[in-house]
Amino acid sequence: MPVSRALSGDRFPTLRLGDEHVRTMRSRPVINPATGAACASVPVAEPAHLDAAVAAARSALPAWRALSWDERQARLDGLAERMAQARDELADLLTLEQGKPRHSAAAAEVDYAIGWLRDVARRRLVDEVLEDTPRHLVEKSHVPLGVAGLIVPWNFPLCLALWKLAPALITGNTAILKPSPYTPLTALRLAELAADVLPPGVLTVLTGDDELGRWMVDHPGIAKISFTGSVATGRRVMAGAAAGLKRLTLELGGNDPAIVLPDADLDAIVPSLFWGAFGNSGQWCVGIKRLYVHDDIYPRLFDRLLAYARGVHMGDGMDPASQLGPLQNARQYAKVLDLLADCAARGQRFALGGRVVGGPGYFVPVTIVDNPSDDSPVVREEAFGPVLPVLRYDDFDDVVRRANDTEYGLGASVWGRDRAFARMLAGRLEAGTVWINEVYVHGVDFPFGGHKLSGLGVEHGAEGLAAYTDIRIRMTSR
Ligand code: NAD
Repeated sequence: MPVSRALSGDRFPTLRLGDEHVRTMRSRPVINPATGAACASVPVAEPAHLDAAVAAARSALPAWRALSWDERQARLDGLAERMAQARDELADLLTLEQGKPRHSAAAAEVDYAIGWLRDVARRRLVDEVLEDTPRHLVEKSHVPLGVAGLIVPWNFPLCLALWKLAPALITGNTAILKPSPYTPLTALRLAELAADVLPPGVLTVLTGDDELGRWMVDHPGIAKISFTGSVATGRRVMAGAAAGLKRLTLELGGNDPAIVLPDADLDAIVPSLFWGAFGNSGQWCVGIKRLYVHDDIYPRLFDRLLAYARGVHMGDGMDPASQLGPLQNARQYAKVLDLLADCAARGQRFALGGRVVGGPGYFVPVTIVDNPSDDSPVVREEAFGPVLPVLRYDDFDDVVRRANDTEYGLGASVWGRDRAFARMLAGRLEAGTVWINEVYVHGVDFPFGGHKLSGLGVEHGAEGLAAYTDIRIRMTSR
């Protein structure tokens, strides 16, 4: 079976630094969240390994940025091709480390990451002539920043890595990718595939503990940090980056509201609402985390949502019957259990779920909380687990106020047949992306980022590419 082959023995014993394979003093276990047992061990990088990675990335830089965009595209297409050849193994590793269902979500994430890499590799930042007069020629161009430090979390390990490394590399930077300590396996496999097609030092994957992220932020040889993770860590990253005035992109948490209007087509939207809230077992930044439903349709929508949820199977991601997997790690599991205990202590009604059976694995059942008060933690905090508060409203101005009453501003959605009204309401929501009758759709050409505490800067689109460059103006007197 591919999984056992992928992880037989010491599967990822070394880090690749430049063209050397280096064994670290320490390693750390990778836990399969479906069982709670270790399934692999990976190297733990120390500061000296980071120094070596930065040195390799800097020495690869002149040749890499001197390539034309087309030449870099050809190499990134080569990486996409290698990933496609390793698709099944990547999906196995993704399920083992993250827990998501192997045959649906994990396979889809691998395919998505490959497609994303190919699509971004075709994008270009075009130089412009800003003035061309008898007096002056003024040209604007984008120059790569240098070495990009890419730090990603554990919910979509492969997708979020590609969201960063594709734009970093196509714009002419070299990159050091740090996966979450919880989910290093797909990234390490990616490093092996990259070694087949990219020059040494162009992409280095470093695994280790959280402090490796801090060392990257502090490292003077790294020009930019692109970080995806929690608000708390994002604040530390921003503070650390200040010393070196590093370029920074922060993609942080969210507490996304979805507003269902009274005219919504309930049959059509219930599956989308369910997967928008509970897909990846609720562990995604732009998941629906507060569902506001108009009084007129509350009982009907509620019943349909429950009926749909009861038909969804949660289990070990390697089981083809599983549609949802466990939470990814013990820390997140404990956090969600605390939230459920708080709901119970407040006497809130679990219409579904709410009770956790306990090990093996970090499974929390799909949980729907019936109209908790606005000030309760299950409404105010990002659960990052399969827990959804469904909330009643009867006034549109008031629901907009409640939806915006959060420090977050990542995504939001509005659901209704009257598109003009839904679009009008969407225009009043404080979020980087507002979807209408859909959710979590991203595109290579659509800038994605958070308002308020949900982030700084954007990924994707021309703006996302430009965020890996500095602008140079060249003025020629005539
Ligand atoms: P986290 O902040 O704990 O960790 C994220 C990454 O930062 C990990 O690789 C971690 O090792 C590293 N890190 C930890 N301490 C660091 C430090 N001091 N300096 C630099 N790096 C450090 O987040 P998490 O628990 O892994 O991920 C969950 C969070 O990520 C949620 O809040 C979720 O909403 C957010 N998220 C946001 C997006 C987005 O695009 N906006 C996408 C996915 C997840």
